[in-house]
Amino acid sequence: QTSLSVDEAIRQILLAVAPIGTERVGILSAVGRVLAEDVTADRPIPPWANSAMDGFAVRHDDLVAARPSRERPIELAVVDEIAAGRMPTRAVGPGEAARIMTGAPLPAGADTVIPIEDAEARDGRVRLLAGADRGANVRPAGQDVPAGECVLPAGTPVTPAVVGMLAQLRRSFVTVGAAPRVAILSTGDELLEIDEAADARPDRATIVNSNAYQLAAAIAEAGARPVQLGIAEDRREAIRAKVENGLRVADCLVSTGGVSVGDYDFVKDVLDDLGADVRFWKIAVRPGKPLVFGLVQGRPYFGLPGNPVSSLVTFELFVRPALRQMMGYRGERRFRPTIEAEVRERFTVPPGRRHYLRCRLSRTPDGGYAAVTTGNQDSAILTSLVRADGLLVVPEDRREVRVGERLPVVLLG
Ligand code: AMP
Ligand code: MG
Repeated sequence: QTSLSVDEAIRQILLAVAPIGTERVGILSAVGRVLAEDVTADRPIPPWANSAMDGFAVRHDDLVAARPSRERPIELAVVDEIAAGRMPTRAVGPGEAARIMTGAPLPAGADTVIPIEDAEARDGRVRLLAGADRGANVRPAGQDVPAGECVLPAGTPVTPAVVGMLAQLRRSFVTVGAAPRVAILSTGDELLEIDEAADARPDRATIVNSNAYQLAAAIAEAGARPVQLGIAEDRREAIRAKVENGLRVADCLVSTGGVSVGDYDFVKDVLDDLGADVRFWKIAVRPGKPLVFGLVQGRPYFGLPGNPVSSLVTFELFVRPALRQMMGYRGERRFRPTIEAEVRERFTVPPGRRHYLRCRLSRTPDGGYAAVTTGNQDSAILTSLVRADGLLVVPEDRREVRVGERLPVVLLG
């Protein structure tokens, strides 16, 4: 197979994965998920006309007649005091006013609120020192949401503001796209878990299975649920047994390592053994050229490269959008935001692949961004990813990037 372009690989992945289902959750657990139901207002918000200010509810007709000002105030009888949380006890008639607090329901008869700053109250009467337009400082019923309106359609990502709206609609539970369970398999004879590595024998060339931890963190950050399958030795049967475990518990599988063309790279063989529908295994991208994508028993399988930077960058580029789509995200919301930055350093890259260079961003005086790389871009150098704000995208046809050029940067979360 020749290498697929990044865009074509993402296109094929997103064509192959679909939302996995729905679940009903408390609204606080819904943050970061996507509504799977249309949420309609069963009553208007606000439910009644109310005051936007502390002041006096009056009849605008009384103001038109006398045109109050500081020099010629008008005086009205105060017939009620309406605190927030209380209903008015009587209507406001001609020549009358009601003391009213912000958010309290407007009494019948009144249509305008004069702020407290423009009034002087004394002995059951109030002097108005200024006029106002009809309807001033009144929020009509249904101003925010009319009754019956579908205010939160299915597909809406749940943000803190959406949680607030759900609460206003008196909804404590809501149906959202289910969070996929994502199985993580680490392949490699050299791997040990953190605690095992602490007392590993010095005569063995072991390394910590750091990929499993960083991927679990990335999966959780995307809103999905990581499931650890543990470490598989570099043997076909060992990898197959773990993948079969994963198929029992997960909606999606991610493995790291064992996808190059080395003598110990068995992931592709295992997928063939399991009758997987393998779509591609090479992408014209750096980091991350060897990347297997296929469907195993209908479930998406991503065989990521083993190097720590490659596994995390390819997760960001190819797996994260797929997980987001499985959760119900649509359109641009499946992807990290991209900005444009002015490159502050000259460098060369081999052409033919799209490069994602780890970079740090700073603000420019004109309000834009400037980017510098974070150093050694080898895919085993995790510090350059640790220090990165984003990934600078160098198009496939480029050999050189000059100081002052503007290129896209994918912002990392
Ligand atoms: P591989 O793709 O299996 O040839 O692995 C490439 C490189 O990534 C090797 O140096 C591995 O030791 C390293 N590597 C593979 N898997 C992991 C892992 N789970 N955690 C950290 N490094 C790994
Ligand atoms: Mg390996």
